[in-house]
Amino acid sequence: MSFQSLGLSEALLKAISKKGYTTPSPIQAKAIPPVLEGHDVLASAQTGTGKTAGFTLPLLHILSENPKQKFRPIRALILTPTRELAAQVYANVKEYSEFLNLRSAVIFGGVNQKPQAATIRQGVDVLVATPGRLIDLESQGLLSLKRVEIFVLDEADRMLDMGFLRDIERVMKLMPDKRQNLMFSATFSKDIKKLAQGILNRPVQVEATPENSTVDAIKQKIYRVAKAKKTDLIIKLITDGNWKQVLVFTRTKHGANKLVKKMISDGIKAAAIHGNKSQGARTKALAGFKSGSISVLVATDIAARGLDIPLLPHVINYEIPNISEDYVHRIGRTGRAGANGEAISLVSADETTFLRDIQKLIGMKLPVEILEGFEPDPNASTAPIKPGQNRRNQSRNNKPKGEKNKSKSNTTSNSGGRNRSRNRNRSNDRRSNS
Ligand code: AMP
Repeated sequence: MSFQSLGLSEALLKAISKKGYTTPSPIQAKAIPPVLEGHDVLASAQTGTGKTAGFTLPLLHILSENPKQKFRPIRALILTPTRELAAQVYANVKEYSEFLNLRSAVIFGGVNQKPQAATIRQGVDVLVATPGRLIDLESQGLLSLKRVEIFVLDEADRMLDMGFLRDIERVMKLMPDKRQNLMFSATFSKDIKKLAQGILNRPVQVEATPENSTVDAIKQKIYRVAKAKKTDLIIKLITDGNWKQVLVFTRTKHGANKLVKKMISDGIKAAAIHGNKSQGARTKALAGFKSGSISVLVATDIAARGLDIPLLPHVINYEIPNISEDYVHRIGRTGRAGANGEAISLVSADETTFLRDIQKLIGMKLPVEILEGFEPDPNASTAPIKPGQNRRNQSRNNKPKGEKNKSKSNTTSNSGGRNRSRNRNRSNDRRSNS
């Protein structure tokens, strides 16, 4: 299968070859033809599969086939959950449209709206946006979605996780009823299916597993270690291995900051990326990580979502996620685009239940390593971390044992409270992301 055979225009083929792509990825091969035919598409694909080109290339093809309109109304809207993802998708749109007469722009919160509004006023064909800023500018009369022909909802599952359902519904009402819709999601929960029913019209369904599914190309292992020794262990692994590009996941923003501080004091070039960081700081950290001036990027799940860091050799879970699916998202950052990578998880006794859930989800037992001096504490409690300890939430499907019979005053010990707690955390991240 070649890009030529997919029916893309010469101008797009030129941009693709400039990017160095030789063959379409599975999701591209499956999604591009139905999009070009004008169908609505529901695609199951996560970051790392080449999904961005999967919707961007045919979208640009369709727009460039039709003559440009005088005042360049927004004809394609790509909605993404986070600022970073919006910036990345936009960078892709720019590259792929280099040889086309199409204009594009990106808008997201956390930065001055004036330059964004000025760009839109000059006319853009393709707009990449996060929901908050999009609605903001629309309600100020600074942009109109009345001429949108193609709507892309990227990372729909994360959109819902971050509490964007209402915003999506609002955006839908701002666009004309007759339009082509593309929806991408890594997972397909009941909520996602419901959302898809509300957005898509007789969609063609396509599916692609990541090129490197967790079971094969990514080398995974865990270190059983006492909680108090995690920081020393991670620093030892990074310095002994002389690792130059490591993505580390922590559970909390505070934890990320603390770890970075310690690493810097140990001479490691590290930076944190999370919802409390300004957009400028986040962009700088990511750019430094990509260019090599920063070796360790410490991130929370939501901040890291959708980051395009090609060929990442090492991912470390400083804490393993309590939502099992997040483990798959996290380790999907390594060994991308065909290269092998390594995913290491530091697991303390209180994370045993989460580990079990993850192993159940990925269908394999993760090999355990124990490093001398970092042996797990044999007397440590294996009781799971309590919600009051700021764990984002228990696994989506499995409530860890020991959750019952907690103090009645702990509102997060029943499912309603748990969801409230989770939504609160999600909406904090939402505000700081959009
Ligand atoms: P995405 O899933 O869109 O975030 O893409 C993941 C990575 O794969 C990005 O670094 C892309 O530049 C790269 N990529 C996308 N399509 C291809 C392709 N056909 N061949 C090689 N690399 C690709």
